[in-house]
Amino acid sequence: MNTNRRDFIKTAALATGAVGIGAFSGSCTTPVSKSKASLHLSFQEGIAPGTSLNEKFDFMEKLGIAGFEPGGRGLAGRVNEIQQALKGRNIKVSAICAGFSGWLIAEAEEHRKECMESSKEILAAAGELGSVGMILVPGFNGQQPSLPMPQAREILLEELKELGDFAIAHNTTLILEPLNRREAWFLRLLADAAAICRDTDNAGITCLGDFWHMTWEETSDYGAFMSAGKYLKHVHIASRERRKMPGEDGKADNYTDGFRALKELNYPHYVSFECGTEGKREETVPAAVALLRSQWEQA
Ligand code: MG
Repeated sequence: MNTNRRDFIKTAALATGAVGIGAFSGSCTTPVSKSKASLHLSFQEGIAPGTSLNEKFDFMEKLGIAGFEPGGRGLAGRVNEIQQALKGRNIKVSAICAGFSGWLIAEAEEHRKECMESSKEILAAAGELGSVGMILVPGFNGQQPSLPMPQAREILLEELKELGDFAIAHNTTLILEPLNRREAWFLRLLADAAAICRDTDNAGITCLGDFWHMTWEETSDYGAFMSAGKYLKHVHIASRERRKMPGEDGKADNYTDGFRALKELNYPHYVSFECGTEGKREETVPAAVALLRSQWEQA
């Protein structure tokens, strides 16, 4: 081994050690129990029982649910209805779930344009409702033909710059959601979503971690959330085997590793239910809320 190579290895070892020590002392100086983060739970519209928004919000308030995540389709026409139903309540709009048409990595320009225009309409409504952001998937498996990877990413960055500026002008953000491989080939990992946010370099472009998709794609819930870091603006949650209420899949429904990362990040946003149920909502929903609160305490 020549001297240069020895020096290189020594320097690399020191650097690795420094990173390790930094990470360790970081968690020592910020003990989990002193995290300022608290668990803000949110429901999509179909989660709470009830036939009207008011019935659903009554149920949610009794459980201390802080956020409401409506779907984006037709949202512009629902702004007043949602504002009225939320008046005087301790519930805010968390995020807006998709609802756009077209897709951003389409081969055909008309489909990309359709996505830009429909997303802008939803972003404007999201801003009026005080939402953290609007959730967007750049392309689903079924949306074909799509551009191949390098070109898709390049064109996406350009589109996101425009959508990010539009979102900022409306006091909201666009939230990129990675999905599992059965639903999307283009964006599956939080670290990749965060890298797109970094490369877009626009405060209006952020990302989301969905425990359901993370179950199939990520090697570590903790690592995934930490890799998303400051770009993380929303979290989805469901049981981990069948996408039902957290707890309906028994022991598989452990979220403490991910919650520990959210605590260390002082994550200030929402953890939102996106799932079905096999049981009666009046029973399975409060049970899921209790499970998540207890796991948050343990994390
Ligand atoms: Mg989701």
